[in-house]
Amino acid sequence: MGARIPLRIDTAPPLDRRSRALTDLRISVIDRCNFRCPYCMPEDDYPRDHQFLSKAGRLRFEEIERLARIFAGLGVRKLRLTGGEPLLRRELPELVRQLASIDGIDDIAMTTNGSLLPKSAKALRDAGLQRITLSVDTLDPEAYRSLSGDRGDVADLFAAIDAATAAGFNSLKLNSVVMRDINDVHVLDMIEHFRGSGHILRFIEYMDVGTCNEWRLDRVVPSAELRERIGARWPLRALPANYGGEVAQRWEFVDGGGEIGFISSVSEPFCGDCTRARLSADGRLYTCLFANSGHDLLGPMRAGASDAELAALIAAVWSSRDDRYSEIRGRAGASQRKHVEMYEIGG
Ligand code: SAM
Ligand code: SF4
Ligand code: SF4
Repeated sequence: MGARIPLRIDTAPPLDRRSRALTDLRISVIDRCNFRCPYCMPEDDYPRDHQFLSKAGRLRFEEIERLARIFAGLGVRKLRLTGGEPLLRRELPELVRQLASIDGIDDIAMTTNGSLLPKSAKALRDAGLQRITLSVDTLDPEAYRSLSGDRGDVADLFAAIDAATAAGFNSLKLNSVVMRDINDVHVLDMIEHFRGSGHILRFIEYMDVGTCNEWRLDRVVPSAELRERIGARWPLRALPANYGGEVAQRWEFVDGGGEIGFISSVSEPFCGDCTRARLSADGRLYTCLFANSGHDLLGPMRAGASDAELAALIAAVWSSRDDRYSEIRGRAGASQRKHVEMYEIGG
């Protein structure tokens, strides 16, 4: 590869129509997944022969790196790799290494189901990955199997936690999508297991993402209710946010058992602080998890657009952003709108 020409972008960091900056970029590196979680990619809608993106239809690593560099020039400081299942993307540590070299990026994280992590945890760490979030909806072996669409094994999850810790990822975030009468009954067992481990369990309210998970409001366990249930066993007290716009509300066990978090996008929406953009594996820019369409960046890029032109395009999209779906979910018509699928933009 020739010498890199320093990126000069004259476009100023944009603010959207609600004065929100663009500081976080979630990059879906692949739309495929080896699980079929019923709340995300139900087996009936995504059988084994489902047609996902072809290799040619996906952003190449150098395209992802180029776009990330342009986003960094517009104010992005944090990157999160996601999917589908990001570890299905070959040579992922190489992408991390490229992203870690971008000026202005000070945090690179990944969200994964963990099933393939033992093979690459060390290489990812060495390449510059700073943090890992693992999805852990239950520790009950049968329920885990069922919540992965009959594909995951809880033993592999424990192996992933061990491998990540051995590779130097000390405090993992463990995300659990809580659904009433499905896995809410396993919450206390999960806490019992992870209390004192240094890992942080975070309970996510089940969301009406995508089009096929048959979401129902009565399946959502509001964080306030869950906190009460947990607090009755282990008293809790609130902690201040680590930084403005933090998605999870932080709580700690009064007895010193560590920290847990609640992501309450249904009962307590946080759109006012939402500084996150999402890049799909086919190079579309989404300005909200519940958007119904994205803005194509791959087409212009492959047609020869310059960095400055791409920056201007991204800034224009962000400047016209007015999204606040979670705040208006209850309004007539809002939830009937078609939403992009979660596995396309990675949560
Ligand atoms: N495959 C990886 C994983 O599961 O960790 C990364 C992609 S997955 C789409 C990202 C996150 O979205 C996961 O933590 C998953 O639990 C969450 N998620 C998926 N569908 C959801 C839903 N309906 N409500 C809330 N969270 C959801
Ligand atoms: Fe796959 Fe993650 Fe979606 Fe589950 S939540 S189906 S692991 S992309
Ligand atoms: Fe951000 Fe959209 Fe979620 Fe609101 S609903 S927090 S705007 S992604």
